[in-house]
Amino acid sequence: MRILHALNAATDVVISHFHGDHLPLADANPYQLSMRDLPHRRRRPRCWSKSDDDLSEAMRKRRADLLTYFVNGIHAAEGCSHGPLSFSQAVPHGVPRSALGTVMMTRIESGGHVFVHASDIQLLNDAAVAAIIDWRPTTVLAAGPPLYLDRLGATERRCAWQNALRLVESVNAIVLDHHLMRDARAPAWLDDLSRAAGKRVYCAADFMGKPRRLLEAQREQLYADMPVPSKWHERYARGAASIETYFDGLRDKQHNRIGTVKEMVPRRLQPKPR
Ligand SMILES: [Zn+2]
Repeated sequence: MRILHALNAATDVVISHFHGDHLPLADANPYQLSMRDLPHRRRRPRCWSKSDDDLSEAMRKRRADLLTYFVNGIHAAEGCSHGPLSFSQAVPHGVPRSALGTVMMTRIESGGHVFVHASDIQLLNDAAVAAIIDWRPTTVLAAGPPLYLDRLGATERRCAWQNALRLVESVNAIVLDHHLMRDARAPAWLDDLSRAAGKRVYCAADFMGKPRRLLEAQREQLYADMPVPSKWHERYARGAASIETYFDGLRDKQHNRIGTVKEMVPRRLQPKPR
């Protein structure tokens, strides 16, 4: 809701990469931003994104869908600057040369502050972290390492830890979230990092002064408690299924457990009382 609200007045929108959890989608699930909800402004904001040279077919389709909204085009911005905005070259989405492709980082300078948005770099590439430090940021938001992935080996875990320490030493405020907080061990990792650096490192909830609630780390349990019928997401994307009917079905199946389950669901996704 906040993103949609901000889009009402935004002059510029930056798409760091074309994974489905980072942009509005034509076929969004309930947890994603739907293109249907974008504000209908006569003057559309400028849109900047990474180049399209290493996009998969699914990413190309998302980009093409977005062009129906950003009618003035999506500008490939890697290595460019525009007013207070500067954009990095493409850097790896985590481990270099993985199938996940690359992302573009953004530096925003305003009123003496320099904010760097470096989502999904996972701190797994030394050059990307060096590029952030060269930008002399005051605040950095980055996705920490995906500790929940078994394939993340000991060398990579060490690399992410060292890069996190390096960043914390050079930057005033660091927020690490997204991939990091998908693992129940993340709070301890973050707190160990704060201790090792002698300075508090935040997750997004800390930074906003809210309690840490690691819903993504509890995915397996949540899906066991709240099973999603097969093909439900496809039907939802077509407008043939709704959150309300989902909860009706769930209530019928588990009517005495729904109270505890509901507490774990974001309020905007809960059905209105009837
Ligand atoms: Zn991503």
